Amino acid sequence: MLSRSAVALALAAVVPSTAAALSASNSSAWQLPSVRPMVATDGFPTLASKLFPPTAAGAAAPDVLHSAAQLLFRTASQLEASEWAQTFLPIACYWVLSTLFYLVSLAGLTSVELHRISAQPGAQRPSNKVTVEAVIRRVLLQHSLQAAMSLVLVFLTRPDDMAARRMEAPWLVVVKLVSAALLMDTWQYWVHRWMHVNKWLYRHIHAVHHELTEPYAFGALYNHWLEGLLLDTVGGGVPALVLDMHPWTATLFFSIATIKTVDDHCGYALPWDPLQVLFPNNAAFHDIHHWGKGRMYNFSQPFFTFWDVWMGTHYEIAMAKKSKAAAAAAAAATAAVASDVYEKAAAAAVAAASVDNNDDEPDDDDDDDDDAKNSIPSLDDGHHDDTDFTEEDESVRDSPVARLAVPITKQH
Ligand SMILES: [Zn+2]
Ligand SMILES: [Zn+2]
Repeated sequence: MLSRSAVALALAAVVPSTAAALSASNSSAWQLPSVRPMVATDGFPTLASKLFPPTAAGAAAPDVLHSAAQLLFRTASQLEASEWAQTFLPIACYWVLSTLFYLVSLAGLTSVELHRISAQPGAQRPSNKVTVEAVIRRVLLQHSLQAAMSLVLVFLTRPDDMAARRMEAPWLVVVKLVSAALLMDTWQYWVHRWMHVNKWLYRHIHAVHHELTEPYAFGALYNHWLEGLLLDTVGGGVPALVLDMHPWTATLFFSIATIKTVDDHCGYALPWDPLQVLFPNNAAFHDIHHWGKGRMYNFSQPFFTFWDVWMGTHYEIAMAKKSKAAAAAAAAATAAVASDVYEKAAAAAVAAASVDNNDDEPDDDDDDDDDAKNSIPSLDDGHHDDTDFTEEDESVRDSPVARLAVPITKQH
């Protein structure tokens, strides 16, 4: 539900000319559109006036900077606790949890390091192409954009009658959270997959996230700013909007999604981590996607894996199918070779019976056998050649991750 005053505020914040239009109805200097104050706001415009004094009081043209500052301070002063939380608690969750993971990695505890995914046998991969400082800078930019978008969402969705807004019942909160998770997963799967399949999108936008071939918690939202906006901010914001979430419910949803995303990038497959036990889409699952040939699999994030299962892009299932097909082909080839050998042996026996011992006859069967054996298809034959646009070192093979993934997933 949109209130007229909220829409006017949002428009005035985005388009300065709108502020001018709004002020046209006033007799003298520009004034804010009428809004219903929820707390005393007198101090904020005063402070704004001190910080950004108008160039000429009573001038026909409004001072845009002054007006924007007034608008910012006044509207910020009206936020409820739940609306502040909706905007900033998920961001706080991100930094607190990723800092914890960082401190744990610095501590180098044996009990934790045993579960470091990149330390597993066969899991070595190309090193990260970006520094931690650059990662943190980019995530801060993303969080700034995310906070701005969240505030706009808060203003646009405010009901006219704030007193009538009630927190949903617990059962409804659960229904909305599950529905939002399904919506977010659907959005992220298809947009993420599109960014891999489309050559231009991968090279210019999504390749940034894949600079982290060995993910760590700080890098969970290390993205091109447009991807952050499209995949994460819109991916979380639209379900909250569509489901008409109360700000506290939205706070819960955004925070859970944030914590889940950080956990998926923590770099550890932890058997005692409840999120990694509850969700098949976990750190081990997402790690496969971050490097090598696994990049064309496991697009699902952040909660479930059903889209990958349905669309045939689930890495483990796809590899199991390939192994089964290869085993069947090998068995067929072995049977063909055995049959061929048997027929030739029978023919030789017939020849031996009709001709005196002739030990000098050349045996050319070896070549045929080799040909038959060489016809067994390899797991890598034609693998991704048409869809892998990432130009990464071809020496990176997928088999180590496949070996890694099986024991990890069996924990769940
Ligand atoms: Zn990707
Ligand atoms: Zn990732």
